[in-house]
Amino acid sequence: MTTLQKANEVERALISIVGEANILCPAPEAYAIDDRRPSFVVLPETSEEVAAVLRLAHAQDLAVVPMGSGRRLSFGNLPERVDILLSTRRMNRILEYEPADLTASLEAGCPLETFNRVALPYRQWLPFDPPDADRATVGGIAAADDFGPLRHGYGRPRDAIIGLEVAQADGTRIRAGGRVVKNVTGYDLNKLFVGSFGTLGIITRVNFKLRPLPEAEATLLFLDAAWETLASGAREILQSELLPAALLLANEAAMSPLGHGQKALLVRFLETAPAVAYQVERAKALAHSLSLELIELENEASRATWEKLSRLHRLIPTDLRLRLSVLPAHTVEALHTSERALSEWLDLPYLLAQPGTGIVHIGGKLGIESEADLPQVGHSITDLRTTWATRRGQVIVEHAPPKLKRHVDVWGDVGSSLPLMQALKRAFDPKRILSPGRFVAGL
Ligand SMILES: Cc1cc2nc3c(=O)[nH]c(=O)nc-3n(C[C@H](O)[C@H](O)[C@H](O)COP(=O)(O)OP(=O)(O)OC[C@H]3O[C@@H](n4cnc5c(N)ncnc54)[C@H](O)[C@@H]3O)c2cc1C
Repeated sequence: MTTLQKANEVERALISIVGEANILCPAPEAYAIDDRRPSFVVLPETSEEVAAVLRLAHAQDLAVVPMGSGRRLSFGNLPERVDILLSTRRMNRILEYEPADLTASLEAGCPLETFNRVALPYRQWLPFDPPDADRATVGGIAAADDFGPLRHGYGRPRDAIIGLEVAQADGTRIRAGGRVVKNVTGYDLNKLFVGSFGTLGIITRVNFKLRPLPEAEATLLFLDAAWETLASGAREILQSELLPAALLLANEAAMSPLGHGQKALLVRFLETAPAVAYQVERAKALAHSLSLELIELENEASRATWEKLSRLHRLIPTDLRLRLSVLPAHTVEALHTSERALSEWLDLPYLLAQPGTGIVHIGGKLGIESEADLPQVGHSITDLRTTWATRRGQVIVEHAPPKLKRHVDVWGDVGSSLPLMQALKRAFDPKRILSPGRFVAGL
């Protein structure tokens, strides 16, 4: 059979599954993954249709990459091949919502914002604030275990996921976990799929436990010229009885879209109104003892600040974004080393660090003369990795131009867990049809 005949046969089969109106062929440029355009974009409406697409792909040996809103598709190594991009955009329903149980079951393509709007009258929410939370889907958040500064107070999405429905590479559908919070028997398969970036299965449904929506909020901005002073403030807060929902160090570039030109420590409180008022007063006293300049933001102003920060990579030109995970005690040092290591290559780099969890985000515009400098940028990232590897730190490239990805593995070395990851990939996707090449060590 010629390539054209095969393509026509695949197209006919896809049409019989999702209908002609739900296939884009050729794929528009906006659907390119790195610089690779898929042959087909398919938009199934149900998990049965997802499974049928996978059965077809499995039989025909076609590579499938799942996609939620597509915001995070640049995360990963260059794809080996992409035949079908499977978008969950039409799978956007709230399947079950039990406010009395604080649980919800959502289709993978349901936008986080849509659900949080529905849960608002019940004073409940999913407390996730990944970058661009306004666009992210719950399936994409689960697949990327994507988080923002609220991780400090609420944990990662994986902590809130109590069950999943997944279509496996051969089209078999499985359920992992359940729909109630107390459902722990056997291996916790949820944790396997959460954060697997669409390489072990396509998540079609996610069951969450919800949180009560806080009654009030406030953010304190402590401003200073030195990381060390701000870090002392953070340490004092961490060692006190205060329970901030988020704690973030931000450099001048990160603060400038907020209208401040100084480094800052941002502390967010989300609680009942009296608890917020009490904590604000205590934190203010701390700031006073350290002679830090202080700005207080309440409710809407506080929310708006964090929303702006979650869109930072759109407000500041960025084409390279890194994430360092270090021991919390090493956060400030990580800020210094990454500033030193990358300032040669990054124009106006922004730095955001969570001193409570040791997560540091760096973004900026590649300031290089020509493509001949790309290997050097790759070396700088590798050097940064080597510096931190001996101290239990990791550096992940969250976003980079495809040309740079040819010079650096975006995940780095995962150490002794690699054979286990390889075995899992072999077990769940032996034909390597799900996002091949994108995950650690080219899995
Ligand atoms: C310009 C821009 C830049 C951004 N940069 C960053 C950044 O640097 N850092 C950051 O943390 N966030 C970033 N984000 C935000 C982040 O991408 C989103 O917050 C969100 O996590 C992604 O959700 P999504 O629905 O778009 O998932 P997608 O981006 O569509 O998918 C995320 C991953 O999950 C897989 N996937 C998607 N759906 C499924 C499914 N149903 N089953 C299995 N696998 C699936 C995909 O193949 C992909 O590997 C950025 C957003 C934009 C618009």
